[in-house]
Amino acid sequence: MATPKWCNLCKRNVIAGKKFNWLVFILLCGLFYLPYYLFKKEKCPICNGDNFSPAKADDL
Ligand SMILES: [Zn+2]
Repeated sequence: MATPKWCNLCKRNVIAGKKFNWLVFILLCGLFYLPYYLFKKEKCPICNGDNFSPAKADDL
């Protein structure tokens, strides 16, 4: 389950997530993309940033 985080750039709670890129996966035969994906940072869906703080419950 996705948990909301506070985005310092958008000044709001967002659901951060990672997008699996099938095109890159196929181009790199998956071998190099899988470890890259596992260590990839979750990103804000709005500003694409990764500057997060814990979600602020009073702003939900
Ligand atoms: Zn953001």
